[in-house]
Amino acid sequence: MEIFTKSFESKNGKIKVHGFKTGKLAIKKAALSAKNPGFLSTILSFRDKFFGEWLPIWVWLIEHPEGLFLIDTGLSNDVKQNNYFNQLDFISKFYFEKQMKFEIEDNEEIDKQLKKIGINCSTISKIILTHLHIDHTGGLKHFPKIPVLVNQREWETKDGSFPKLFPENLKIEQIKLENRFENFENSFYLTKGKDLIMVETQGHTRGHSSIILKLNEDKFIFFAGDVAYNEKRLVEKIFSATIKDNRKNIKSCNDIMNLATAKGVIFLPSHDPESGVRLMNGIELLNSDVV
Ligand SMILES: [Zn+2]
Repeated sequence: MEIFTKSFESKNGKIKVHGFKTGKLAIKKAALSAKNPGFLSTILSFRDKFFGEWLPIWVWLIEHPEGLFLIDTGLSNDVKQNNYFNQLDFISKFYFEKQMKFEIEDNEEIDKQLKKIGINCSTISKIILTHLHIDHTGGLKHFPKIPVLVNQREWETKDGSFPKLFPENLKIEQIKLENRFENFENSFYLTKGKDLIMVETQGHTRGHSSIILKLNEDKFIFFAGDVAYNEKRLVEKIFSATIKDNRKNIKSCNDIMNLATAKGVIFLPSHDPESGVRLMNGIELLNSDVV
């Protein structure tokens, strides 16, 4: 397993960002690209016999002067047990078992990877979730006493089956995104230094959020969750069938593109194979080869 670590000097001090691949997933080829994302496209994709390529599942750790912030928690190793999805309703179980594929090595769960860089799960200050899908929340079981920050809208509009896979002793803190940050209407400052910001990027789910690390006035790292599965898809507006709200997702992508025309933005989606390399080399959106 390869861990991607990059140090930055910011106006608030030294900051380190680590990227971990916590397993991988695949969805049906037909579901990867949909003209009209939504329920019907998702159902139609069931007929496809073929899965698309494996996609990594990134988790990010920010070592910040104000503490250790973990963005998402990746996949749970329990996904390999035959009964993992048994507690879900019939449709969710069918979807996860037949329409998706998951793989994770024993040493790829987030607790083991944090240990590898000398960090104990109990020392994490806050967990910040982009959304509540199982490939982002599977590792929550390792953090029973740590505050878990979620956009209130995401918590209130979540699929009813998801909490069945959450650990019992979760410390969820619902965040109201009431500030404006740059061109994002709904955002929330996660640090006193106002350099770590949750911004609402609706579409993939109803309260999907991204996290921005502001290194200085002109340089931002954008932890994008599932706004787009990779940078090329953001630029070309290619979306998976499973998008909850296509119109809002396009608006979120436009907001990100507008930010990237004004500032240097390193764009790091949760399932982009290139996210780690982009972090290491500081490759900015709209300055890379894909455009
Ligand atoms: Zn995802």
